[in-house]
Amino acid sequence: MGNSDLNSMGEDDQPRRAARLLAVVEVDKSERVNCQEPGCGHTVYKAIHVVRDGGQLLTLGSTCFEKRYGGLTALGTAQYGGGTGKRLTPEERLLLTANTEALLARFEQEQERLHQEMVFKLERLREAQARHTPPAIAPAAPVVPEYGARGLPTRARFPWPWMMPVSSVFAIKLRDGSGWVRVQHRDGRQFIVPWPSFEGWEEALPPVVGRAQMEVGGYEVMGRVEDALAFLRAHANRPDEKITGLWADVITLLGGTSGSATT
Ligand SMILES: [Zn+2]
Repeated sequence: MGNSDLNSMGEDDQPRRAARLLAVVEVDKSERVNCQEPGCGHTVYKAIHVVRDGGQLLTLGSTCFEKRYGGLTALGTAQYGGGTGKRLTPEERLLLTANTEALLARFEQEQERLHQEMVFKLERLREAQARHTPPAIAPAAPVVPEYGARGLPTRARFPWPWMMPVSSVFAIKLRDGSGWVRVQHRDGRQFIVPWPSFEGWEEALPPVVGRAQMEVGGYEVMGRVEDALAFLRAHANRPDEKITGLWADVITLLGGTSGSATT
């Protein structure tokens, strides 16, 4: 084996001390596991960080992870699952403590499957665009002002005061039941906003989607919108999405009420 190959991405080439974030997972509260940070002694069930550190596998609560490495994003994106706080099945939960390596091997397989799925979807999207069909993923296509301009009094308004006026949104419902809306800020930035919002939303999606901006109440897309939406779609059932300029359409798809976003 070429041990002088410095370009290799293999983890064996990394310094032995380098810590790696492998996965962020969640288990049922009744099945919580011990945080393995020395001296912690807490049990955790949400945002359990699985880390390989100095040849050792550790499960850490997010607080201990943050303290140990100097920040929640200090080790970058989780190798598996993108740091989504994937909820483990009972079987996976057993593996988490009994045989963490076996669990990671499973994640590896799952990741490969999702990757293939996403490649397939993106290829189909490119084909569709090449045929000049309306793109399935439209970054804030302008829409006719159906409300406001014509003064329709009963038309519910989008609940985000910072939203670019007269822009469309992309709403999607994930298999876990959470709803997300791609909304363009009037300064041009794209956000992925939870709807209805929920506690812990800022830890629900991985960096490929964006960076949580608490003051806005959503993830600012830092990379390509397409990549963010591709991630969401990989976690959604096919028909559970809509591009629309109407708030009522979002409510129909994702639930919630028009009034509950106002603070
Ligand atoms: Zn801890």
